[in-house]
Amino acid sequence: MISLLKALQQADARKTAIGHFNVSDLVTLYGVVEAARQHEVPVIVGASEAERRFLGVPQLVAMVRSLRETEGPPIFLNADHTHSLPGAVEAAKAGFDWVVCDFSSLPFEENVRQTKEAVLALKALRPDILVEGEIGDIGSGSQIHESAPDIRRTLTTPDEARQFVEETGIDTLAPAVGTMHGVLRSMLKTDAKKRLDVPRIQAIKQRTGMFMTLHGASDTDDADLRAAIAAGITVIHISTELRLAWRHGIETSFAKQPEEIGPPTLLTPVIDAVKCTVGARLALFSGHEAQH
Ligand SMILES: [Zn+2]
Repeated sequence: MISLLKALQQADARKTAIGHFNVSDLVTLYGVVEAARQHEVPVIVGASEAERRFLGVPQLVAMVRSLRETEGPPIFLNADHTHSLPGAVEAAKAGFDWVVCDFSSLPFEENVRQTKEAVLALKALRPDILVEGEIGDIGSGSQIHESAPDIRRTLTTPDEARQFVEETGIDTLAPAVGTMHGVLRSMLKTDAKKRLDVPRIQAIKQRTGMFMTLHGASDTDDADLRAAIAAGITVIHISTELRLAWRHGIETSFAKQPEEIGPPTLLTPVIDAVKCTVGARLALFSGHEAQH
């Protein structure tokens, strides 16, 4: 399997993006992996601290390793939104390919200090591991929110991005460019979508030359996503859309089979629901959308 760094370089050169999907059980993991195999594109499986606690850090690593042994596109594993050095070290030691060190809620100088400390510690343990740093506020919680956070105030500027990249030594940057984690209830009822500040993405890319990750991209306008990839976004995180597909899939499956008690029968359609959502995103990110 190619390295994650190589996969990022290839996506960057081709002006495509790699999909990053959060998992918290076997159903979502299989849905993500089956979609990547169907579309024949690399994929990144992510797990936040809460998702890792639920699944088990070594257990998730073992599952992904065993899936890699089967023929198919590369599957990478990311320790998403890690808020402490011990948590980052645990993921690195367990075999994750990538760690998102998220100290973005701290003042800028403290974010720089703790991110730099994490980069040094993780690279000393595993020189091949990639480390992401995050600046700006993109909200928290892959959930349904009643109201939008005021993110306009904390969008990342090209100058602070450059300073952050130079001072921390990170491999990838998560800037705040218009998305937020979770979706608004209003988005579920209407056609309202998240919108991106594409000129800002382009300016940050030009100023830093960094691989950039777009967090909180569920329910973002499709045309904005295509423009963001062209402007320099290399990885796109989707979580809430999967959670919605999982929940709706379970509700539909249980409603259709009220007497069924076998998990394989009940949960196979849920894997398909997650796979369908992931597949549509992978097609968009890789530029392989069906022409209509
Ligand atoms: Zn995120």
